[in-house]
Amino acid sequence: MRLILLGPPGAGKGTQAKLLVERYGIVPLSTGDMLRAAVAAGTPVGLKAKDIMAGGGLVPDEVVVGIIADRILEPDAAQGFILDGFPRTVPQAEALDRLLKERGLKLDAVVELRVNESALLQRVEARVAQMEARGETVRIDDTPEVLSKRLAAYRAQTEPLVHYYSERRALLTIDGMMTIDEVTKEIERVLSAIVAAEKRAKAAPRKARELSKASKVAKTAAKAPVKADKAVKKQAAAAKTAPKKAAKKASKKPSKAAAKGAKKAASRNTAKKGGKKAVKKAAKVANKAARKAGSTAKKAAKKHAKSRSKTVKRLTKRR
Ligand code: AMP
Repeated sequence: MRLILLGPPGAGKGTQAKLLVERYGIVPLSTGDMLRAAVAAGTPVGLKAKDIMAGGGLVPDEVVVGIIADRILEPDAAQGFILDGFPRTVPQAEALDRLLKERGLKLDAVVELRVNESALLQRVEARVAQMEARGETVRIDDTPEVLSKRLAAYRAQTEPLVHYYSERRALLTIDGMMTIDEVTKEIERVLSAIVAAEKRAKAAPRKARELSKASKVAKTAAKAPVKADKAVKKQAAAAKTAPKKAAKKASKKPSKAAAKGAKKAASRNTAKKGGKKAVKKAAKVANKAARKAGSTAKKAAKKHAKSRSKTVKRLTKRR
């Protein structure tokens, strides 16, 4: 599953991302966390981002796109990821589309957490108090002054993404003013509907393939009797002419020669067209005809011999 969490600072993206990561076994990718780590490590990216972040502005697109491009290629992201805080501008969203397309990946959904701006300051203040209580280092951009700048940046540069993704039919808007649990349940509900729809979409081409295979088999099966019938008719015709040919041979070795000749005629016509069954059936018909031909030939030979001896007798009597 590949998701984007969209929403202003303090909307609860980080909290929901953690829960979704557990639920779907996907990796969380927060550009804010990555940039803070880069700042702490004093990397070139960190040095570039440090002051911008402290002032509540946005780090240049190429910097964050570079970080994400490398990160989504790592093996742990192969099963899916949840992007928190990225994309934050339309050019970032376009870059992400290109990255995914190049890698043959698809975005499953963009979850927008919609909240009242008036509630955001209270939420951030509550977060600061909780972090202090846990003895954690408080973010330098979690102050009322910087928060108002971050909100202004969200409105101007990130909010257009709501339109960007709704146009692409990827946007799912959730009421972020509900309790954490309620928001989680609602996200899970809409995501499971997506998962079910994807399963159905995946199954559809397989079913279509199975159906077309079945219809091919049915068509072949429907043609088979016609083929066999044709072959049998041919054999019957071949068998009709077989007695004449067989009769000639039958005068020497009647039944065997006739059967051979008729069989040959049968297999010549059926081998190409009919199935094995048709060949067998045709051969049976031909054999029968050949036997008949053989006995007719024998009778003819006997008759001929009888009349010959009669003639001989008659002639000898006269002498
Ligand atoms: P966050 O933790 O998501 O609130 O991000 C903290 C700060 O990191 C932001 O106020 C920005 O200065 C910077 N930042 C994080 N993600 C991005 C991004 N996608 N584009 C530009 N700047 C970002």
